[in-house]
This record gives sequence, structure tokens and C-alpha cells, in this order.
Amino acid sequence: MYRIMPLKVAEISVPLGAVLMMGDMRVMTTGPVYVWVIDGEDEKIVVDSGVEEAKNGLFHGFPGKGGGEKGLREALESVNLKPEDVDKLIITHLHFDHAANAKLFTNARIYVQRREWESALNPPLHYREIYDASMLHPLEEMDLCLIEGDVEIADGVRTVLLPGHTKGLQGVAVETERGKYLIAGDHFYTYLNFFPPKHPIQMTDIAGNTVEIPASSIPFLPPGLHVDLTEWYESCFKALSYVKRQNILPGHDPSLEGRIFP
Ligand SMILES: [Zn+2]
Repeated sequence: MYRIMPLKVAEISVPLGAVLMMGDMRVMTTGPVYVWVIDGEDEKIVVDSGVEEAKNGLFHGFPGKGGGEKGLREALESVNLKPEDVDKLIITHLHFDHAANAKLFTNARIYVQRREWESALNPPLHYREIYDASMLHPLEEMDLCLIEGDVEIADGVRTVLLPGHTKGLQGVAVETERGKYLIAGDHFYTYLNFFPPKHPIQMTDIAGNTVEIPASSIPFLPPGLHVDLTEWYESCFKALSYVKRQNILPGHDPSLEGRIFP
């Protein structure tokens, strides 16, 4: 049985409209960038590899801090792990804040969906700045496994193809003492994407800023960045076929910092 540990490697600010579709694009909100350790068995398994170091306070144009090799090593050290110790690295998708630093995982097999790989090498127009070819080419020198669909990576750890945010985004379903959990990557950025507020609420981000969130009448509120919204909604129901809604772990929710699941 496993435990899941989200570890913060950086902070990044994005427009609210990127987190919640139709959100105010003039309002910035700051959230964490996580890597995830799946702990409990002999094999060391990590999900996502973080973001490069901020340059002049920016990640690909988005304000932020932390990241890079330093951010990754410090986060992993907090659970007595080094990237070189990791046996398996699962990358949910190849956006710049999920797939950097992968070259440090020198002894790992690296799992990416084939269709994600192909899309990242030839990205749709609106994702040209969000994928980074300089992150992709080093992966070709490593033990890169291009997988198709839902694949068992280890006993009790399974990829779940969830297209919509990108063409080949994969979640990771993990068996725990309290049932299955799903590391959802950016299919959901925050809990607000799958527990949309029925009444307007105020959210405080990790920079301490208060952001107004409008009410929503739909059961899933997509992020503002996607390649196919119809597929995105279908993937929401696919996720629910694996796990209960409350056992979904969104990709950038501030409330996950420091927690261990279950
Ligand atoms: Zn993304």
C-alpha cells in the first residue's frame, strides 16, 4: 500500500482565467508547482519533475520563484530521496512546469504517453510557449517509455489517460489503505475545478492575495487552457470511474502542501 506526498518545488502566478475558464484574466493568482512521491514499496516512484529555475523572476513569462535543480533536490531531500535514487518517473504531461529537470533522474525509466510526446514536439499554436523543446530532447537519451493508454507501472500504480488539457495528459491511480487516489496532473488545477462553488466565494492564494471566485452551476469547471473541451469533460467521468471525487488530487492546489495521502 502506498502513501502519496505532494512536494512543492516552486511558486508560479497565472491569470485566474487559466485556472478557471471564464475567470478574470486581469487577476493573477499564485499557486504551487508540485512533484509527487509515491512511497511505500521498494521501488521509488515519482510523478512529474518540476519546473526550471525562474529567469528574472519569470517562468516562460509567468512570475514565480524557486524551481530548478535546487528546488527539486530540496523537495526530494525532505523525504530522504535524490533524483538519482528514483526507479520510475511518470510525467503527467510535458508542459514546462511538469517536465523540467527530468535529466537528473539518471537511473529512472520515464513514462510519457506517446500522443503527449508527439504533440509536444509539434504543439498546437496556443501551446508553443508552454512546451519547451529543450526539455524534450534530453529525454531521448534516457530510458524513455512512450506508453499508450492506461498502463500498470507497478503493482497498484496505474496511468490513466485523461486527454483534454493536453492531447496525452495522464493521471496516476494509486492504491492506498483508504482506497484508490488519483494524481490528476493539470486535468484539474485546483479543487474548484471539480467542486465548483455553488455561491460566490473568496479564495486566498499562497501569496496571501484574496481572489473572488464566481458561483458555478456545472459539476466540472475546466481550466482555461485546453486542447479539447469535449474530451476534457469525458475525461472527468473517466476519472470518476477510477476513484471517488474526494480522492482526486489536483495539480496545483495550495491546500495540498505538506500533506500526505491518505
Ligand atoms: Zn499543464
